[in-house]
Amino acid sequence: MTTIVRRFQFCAGHRIYQHEGKCAGIHGHNYVVQFYAAADELDDLGRVIDFGVLKEKLGGWIETHWDHAFLCFERDIEMRRLLAAVPEQRLFLCPVNPTAENLARYLLDVVGPNQLADTGVELTRVILWETENCRAEATR
Ligand SMILES: [Zn+2]
Repeated sequence: MTTIVRRFQFCAGHRIYQHEGKCAGIHGHNYVVQFYAAADELDDLGRVIDFGVLKEKLGGWIETHWDHAFLCFERDIEMRRLLAAVPEQRLFLCPVNPTAENLARYLLDVVGPNQLADTGVELTRVILWETENCRAEATR
């Protein structure tokens, strides 16, 4: 098994719905995400997949949907009401509370399979850094 890793950075706002402490407040992170793609056999040129394909399909998705967006839990009605007053704000409605763990899992289970469907390559791990000290890992 050979694994390659593509890293992206993005900025996003969020809050953790029903958090017991300060994470219930509106704030943001300079996120770093690492996508791990693995293959048993390399292609004819010696690649798992071209890094440029990961950039286009995964980086492109991040840039379109999450970069400079507010990641809002779909059940967080107060935030949705508030954000409706700022129509130029990019909004991403998350089916899960936007913790680092849930966001990493979403990237691995939903975004990766959708974006890489026609490549024959699967993600095996996603690591999402919220800060330099805190990260979450989702694995298969
Ligand atoms: Zn946070």
